[in-house]
Amino acid sequence: MKKPFLTLAQAKEIAKTCPTPFHIYDERGIRENARALKAAFAWNPGFKEYFAVKATPTPGILKILREEGCGVDCSSLTELMMAERCGFGGEEIMFSSNETPASEFELAGRLGAYINLDDLTHVDILYKTLGRAPGAVCCRFNPGGVFTLGESKEGFQVMDNPGQAKYGMTRSQLAQAFAKLRELGTKRFGIHAFLASNTISNEYYPALARLLFETAAGVARETGCQIAFINLSGGVGVPYRPEQSANDISVIGEGVRRAYEEILVPAGMGDVDIFTELGRFMLAPFGHLVTTAVHQKHIYKEYIGVDACAANLMRPAIYGAYHHITVLGKEDAACDHVYDVVGSLCENSDKFAVDRALPEIEIGDMLVIHDTGAHGFSMGYNYNGKLRSAELLLREDGSVELMRRAETPDDYFATLVW
Ligand SMILES: *Cc1c(COP(=O)(O)O)cnc(C)c1O
Repeated sequence: MKKPFLTLAQAKEIAKTCPTPFHIYDERGIRENARALKAAFAWNPGFKEYFAVKATPTPGILKILREEGCGVDCSSLTELMMAERCGFGGEEIMFSSNETPASEFELAGRLGAYINLDDLTHVDILYKTLGRAPGAVCCRFNPGGVFTLGESKEGFQVMDNPGQAKYGMTRSQLAQAFAKLRELGTKRFGIHAFLASNTISNEYYPALARLLFETAAGVARETGCQIAFINLSGGVGVPYRPEQSANDISVIGEGVRRAYEEILVPAGMGDVDIFTELGRFMLAPFGHLVTTAVHQKHIYKEYIGVDACAANLMRPAIYGAYHHITVLGKEDAACDHVYDVVGSLCENSDKFAVDRALPEIEIGDMLVIHDTGAHGFSMGYNYNGKLRSAELLLREDGSVELMRRAETPDDYFATLVW
């Protein structure tokens, strides 16, 4: 059973000043989870999580994570600017982008960020853009082929297809990039790879770590470069469905430690730092999209129309992603009705739920759409003239703070030149 972190009374109180739909985040959950991650990797003194800004680009959230010792992983100019405005600097910033414009390397270089190169040709571009090679550089590795893990807890396989992915360098390009960077003056090196997304398996990070540790030991032998860190990137998932069980981050951390002891330590590389760039795992469960039922329709199916739409949460419309729904105040009622819960876009994919068993819904009921803290608000858009919602923070003391106001029509028209 998924329980909301918000009660009906709290939601009603908020809606007096901030009408639905809105996104709200749970400070307590975010902090506890960030601490659990840190504890799971405490065996590695240089461990750092670089939160993937694209998942939740909201300064109020980034500042909380900074207080918990996290850095940020940025992928664009504006994400770098946001990181700077939130007080992140130097090696608290990872810049992992692809098809990167020179202007972005320039800002990342000025901020002193770790730059994660997606392609061999970027070595020259980076050198020309900055007029120097940074002291430390990371390179993104793509092992090609198909990445599989055996059975996960839910009995399905984790499988992804790096050979079809646009990211990263081949193994031989990785060694070339390191050799070239070293000639240009780089002293410390990192290796990064992102091979599977939203994994519900404690085996993903340990398997990825083994692959990267072996690659790192090999590249260090071949080139003589000093590997300073391994970046395991994102991909640790969350259970969107109530019948799925959550990853256990302490088991994951222990699995990575075992691989480290077996591969890196014997290779004389026991001083390598472990970095992560988690987005979903850090935030998804700690965000709700709160919306009000505004309409009922009985045609060939039973529809509940709500005041949120895919412009507030795109995942169901584009991936058919499951997001659990709770009707506030009816948490314990029987789910004896079957509905499609839909938004108002002129797009038939704008459905938060299809054939979902829920308690009877009346107009005016407030619904929580779960696990929207990552890749929720951030994927929003303005189709059909829809405006982005507010983002609120539920503080640990129970108070509620506005982090981002809702857009108004003036915002929508602001970029027009008539
Ligand atoms: C998206 C992304 C992440 C975060 O992925 P999650 O699945 O949210 O953990 C991390 N690193 C890079 C380079 C990414 O593109």
